[in-house]
This record gives sequence, C-alpha cells and structure tokens, in this order.
Amino acid sequence: LQENSVIEHGTPDRTVLTTCAYCGVGCSFKAEMKGDQVIRMVPYKDGKANHGHSCVKGRFAWGYATHNDRITKPMIREKITDPWREVSWEEAISFSAERLKKAQAEHGVKAIGGITSSRCTAEEVWVVQKTIRAAFGNNNVDTCARVCHSPTGYGLNQTFGTSAGTQDFDSVEEADVIIVIGANPTDAHPVFASQMKRRLREGAKLIVVDPRKIDLVKSAHIEADHHLALKPGTNVAIVNALAHVIAKEGLIDEAFVQERCDLQSLNEWRNFILDEVNSPEAIAQESGVDADAIRAAARLYATGGNAAIYYGLGVTEHSQGSTMVMGMANLAMATGNIGRRGVGVNPLRGQNNVQGSCDMGSFPHELPGYRSVADDAVRGTFETAWQRELDSVPGYRIPNMFDEAIAGKYKGMYVQGEDIAQSDPNTLHVEEALKALDILIVQDLFLNETARFAHVFLPGTSFLEKDGTFINAERRINRVRPVMKSATGLEEWEVTQRLANAMGYTEMNYSNAAQIMDEIAALTPTFAGVSFKRLDETGSVQWPCNDAAPDGTPIMHEERFVRGKGAFIVTEYVPTTEKTNRKFPLILTTGRILSQYNVGAQTRRTDNVDWWEEDVLEIHPSDAEAKGIRDGHWVSIRSRKGETTLRAQISERMAPGVVYTTFHHPESGANVITTENSDWATNCPEYKVTAVEVTPANHK
Ligand code: SF4
Repeated sequence: LQENSVIEHGTPDRTVLTTCAYCGVGCSFKAEMKGDQVIRMVPYKDGKANHGHSCVKGRFAWGYATHNDRITKPMIREKITDPWREVSWEEAISFSAERLKKAQAEHGVKAIGGITSSRCTAEEVWVVQKTIRAAFGNNNVDTCARVCHSPTGYGLNQTFGTSAGTQDFDSVEEADVIIVIGANPTDAHPVFASQMKRRLREGAKLIVVDPRKIDLVKSAHIEADHHLALKPGTNVAIVNALAHVIAKEGLIDEAFVQERCDLQSLNEWRNFILDEVNSPEAIAQESGVDADAIRAAARLYATGGNAAIYYGLGVTEHSQGSTMVMGMANLAMATGNIGRRGVGVNPLRGQNNVQGSCDMGSFPHELPGYRSVADDAVRGTFETAWQRELDSVPGYRIPNMFDEAIAGKYKGMYVQGEDIAQSDPNTLHVEEALKALDILIVQDLFLNETARFAHVFLPGTSFLEKDGTFINAERRINRVRPVMKSATGLEEWEVTQRLANAMGYTEMNYSNAAQIMDEIAALTPTFAGVSFKRLDETGSVQWPCNDAAPDGTPIMHEERFVRGKGAFIVTEYVPTTEKTNRKFPLILTTGRILSQYNVGAQTRRTDNVDWWEEDVLEIHPSDAEAKGIRDGHWVSIRSRKGETTLRAQISERMAPGVVYTTFHHPESGANVITTENSDWATNCPEYKVTAVEVTPANHK
C-alpha cells in the first residue's frame, strides 16, 4: 500500500506524524485528523523505515484505540473473585502502593517486581524500570523480550560485543545472497518483506531455513534457491553443518578473520567445527535435511557476494536459541559478512518497541544501555542521578517470578501492557503463579486474560494518545506523537510516576516525555546525542547516536567490533529434551499471520477480525489422512502439558510430522500445550518444539 492509495473518508483539518504501534519495522504514518477523529492513517513517504509503504495492520487496524472495550477508569477489588469497582486515580494508586509495601514488609524487599511493555514508548518503559529499581528497591524487572529475542541479546553480545542488530533495513538493497532463518517476513514484517522481495526480484539469491514452506520459498516471481526444511529443534546442527562445509572447503575469509577476530577463539572454533560430527552427512538424518542441499547452501552463502542473514523467533525460541544466534554470528565472521552494507546478522524484532524496552534497562541483570547492575561505576552514576541506592544483584526473570510466586516468596507484580496469561508458555503454570500473588496490578487498554487475576486495573493509553519514541529493529528511534487526548486523563508514565511517589520515591517528578528522553540521553552513552528536538529535526536517528556518531549508526562494527575483536564461540548441538514418541508423535510449532498481531488484543478489536476469525492447526495431508482428519473439522491437540481443540487446515506448507498454529485468540489456548523448556542462557521459552498428538474431535 502506498501513500496515494488512500480511501476517502473526508477531508482532514490537520495531520500528525507518528509511528505504527505493531511490528518492529516501525513505519511512519501521517494521521489525518478531522477534529478529534482519525479519518485515515497514511504511510509517510519520507519515513526512513517504510519509504511511503505500509501493511494492512498499520494502515487499517488502528480502530482498537477507540473501541468500546477500552477501560478508561482505574478499578480495584479486594479479591480476584470480587467484582471490579471504579475508583479515582488517587485511590487506585494508594491501594496499589499500600499492598506492594505490605508485601515487602511481610516477605522482604525482593517480594515484588514488574514487567515493562514493548507496546509502550521508550520513555514509559524507562519510568517503569526506574520505579522498580529506585522505588521497589530491587532489579525484579523483565520484559517480553524474555520470551522472544533475549537469545539475540545474549548471543550477539558474546560474539560482537553488543546485542544490537547489525544493519539498517535499506542495507538489504546491496545483498547478493539473503538467508532467512526461522522468520516469515511476509506475515510478520510485511513492509521489510517487500523491500527484500524487490531485491530478490533483482536477482539476489535466497536460502530459506524453515520447517514450513513459507511464502518466500515460492511466491510470485520469487523462488528460494535452497529451502532447508529442517525438523524443529535442529537449527544448531544445521548452522554447524553450514560452517563445517565453509571451513572444510577453504571458504573462510582468512584476511577478515585474521584482522578482525580473536585468533584464539577462531582456532578453538575451527577445530570444533571441522570435526566430522558437524558434517552435513552426520546431521542429515537428525535434521531431516539432505547433505547436498546443506553443502550447496553453504557454498552460496560463502561465495555469492554480500550475504545477509535475517532471522526471527524460529531461531530464538528454542532450548538452544542463544547457541543458534552465536552460530549465525560465527558464520558471518568466518565469511567476512559483517560491517558493511548488504551483509550482517539481522534480528527481525517482533514488537514495535521491543528494541527500545531492552535498550531502556528492562532486564533484571542490566541497567539501561546493557550495562551490568553489578558494575559499581555504572550503578554509581544512576544512584547519583536517581538519589537512591540501587541493588547490585540481578533480579528475577519472568519464569523466576512465576516459580517464586508459586513458592510463596514473590507476592506483588506490576504488569504494563503485557498479557502474560495468554502469551507465556504453559498457561496452567502461569495461572497458578498469578493466583498466588497478594497484589497484581495490570496496566492495559483492555481487561485482558492477565487481568482476570488482577486486584488493580490501571487504564493505559493507545499509541494515538502517546508522546515519546518507539525504537525499531534497525535501532531507529522514531517519534510517536499524540493525535488525541489521553482517554484516561493521564499519560501512562504519569501513572507509573504517581505509583513511585506513593511508594515513597518522591524524587521522580517529570513534567513531560521530553524530560524523560533528556535523562535517557544523559545516562545512556549510546543515546547521548538523542533529544526530541533532534528527532523532530532529522525525522529519526539510529543509535548509537553520540559525539562519536552524531548522525547515528546505520551499520554496526564497520571498523572494529564493539567488543574489539570478534569472538568465535563453540556451538555444540544439544538436542532438545522435548521428544516425540508413540504417544506424542508430531511436533507442534507456532507463529503468526499477517492480519493478526500476537495475542490479538489490538487486531481482534478491528475489522481485521473478519479476515481471520480463529486460530487453526495446519497439518500435512499425509498426517491428516493417517489420522482420519478432514479439512475444517475440529481436532484435539494434546501435549504433555495440556490439551486444546482447533479446526484443522490441511496444508502442503507443512512438512510431514510437523503441525503449526498461531496464538492470536485466547479461546484457542495454544499456550496451554506449550512446555516450560527454555533457552539455556536466557530462559526464552521453547515455543517452537512441542511433542503432540492430534486426533479428530467432535466439537470445540
Ligand atoms: Fe506497522 Fe509493521 Fe505493518 Fe509497518 S510493517 S505498517 S510497522 S505492522
């Protein structure tokens, strides 16, 4: 969709430039307004991430912002079985603070914490993590990146010295070989997918590593040169086999690795990767991928010119998610495909501001700017600025919060814009944890699944009411500007600030979002050159933006890696413990579709719901026939964790033995069946591998 392809709904009397609140592409839009009404969202031709393009979500799916389901008044209740009672902001904040303080008085300072939201602005996230650190007095803060790209943070940091994605989107225009691993850009990052497809139509080669025949494998004018349709869970075996071929056939870029990489790590890695255990033949049966196909893909990646890796949650949401990220970084370094346009290791971030929520210090072990809470000098800087002594011990990750709640040690939680009861794995375990809390505060637009267990509901604001920034997958800091007044009467950061004040932290007293960004810039070296003024003048800027890079940084690691020399890491393949057997013979993997978004809280409340009303189970015709399953009929899906019922959709997209569903609708209960397996380094859940049985069912 392009700027001029608008549908007429009247003549605007003003326009406001802002940013889409869906995916990590971060498209810029002009909101055309008539009075207080949005009459259309027009993709902005000078938007640096979208160049005048958009997808159906950003263009049309913004009606949720004024949907009747919006809650605009604070509510409280003594017990979760009581009805909600509308109260004033003062009463809701006071009730919340008293219960949080009581939980700390009875169970210790670490008995409370919270989760920031990647749907919210960077400024709102900053205020939440600051509240937890300075007002709650601990580091019990985490973010939804825990369940999506936390392995990216760990893996790229270990190898390159920063968790940042390496390129800007426009860089794809100079790629000669594109390798897409565990990502479906057509559905999840549509505008970038179009840019990528343009390059493919110009002749760039394409390798797809994915268990499904995603759209990129074969669509109009595009056909992948190689589709490595691996069994879910064998990513690391494949990336090691690709590297094995490159090392064995003398395709390592010796000039690059000798100059730019740590030689001891290179030698250790080279010895490891040359072992025959990593050969294509050795892993062919385990991965289900033909050895010759792996060899051909490896040769193309290493010799085809500029080669760029793009990846998504099919890489990270595994028990070896971090290992796989490091494996891809090894590949890029070994072939010299890093540090210039057209190459790199590019995470396709899911949510509009997941990059920003990570940048703003939403991890329990890191202060803003990815600096350890244990670093006395860094912590000291924040202590001086925030006038509070800060905890030097990492706090709980989200799974730890659930476990500690069930153990009776974690009693209070503040959740901003994150529906953990629907989005996190092993739903029954999550619900048990939430029921065990003395105080659960949910800040959201709607009474979501998590709010069923809440004692306080603090109404949030939609992106149309927010003032601040979203940071996209290419580290681009985009302005979000309010097009209408807050429906709740307060900005979301103001609510958090009032909670911090009520907890006794009265030193926090921002008057507007620009002041928050000024503090971010003052305390975070990679943001030192960022201000609303600069963003308004330039349109947007990619961090790092500081004295060393006043215009921002489209490409990372150009002259040297952030850590100095790039570090190769030995990436031994360890199979997942989630095994198929006679009782659970199929592997379930999950993902999403173009017209819906994550847990669907927004898109289900727009006209998009007409396009895709329910989650379905995709199953290969041979599996369907073997089990007597007919297209469109109900099927029961059972795992070791639980059971749910969906309609079957028989599809050649699936490989035999693998089934697939989405998690956009709470009724479908996809996460009732996913397991608590997680990445060894970051606890990112293994959503992509669940052993299941599928049988015909009579009805839902
Ligand atoms: Fe919004 Fe992403 Fe679509 Fe752009 S591609 S309009 S950011 S959902």
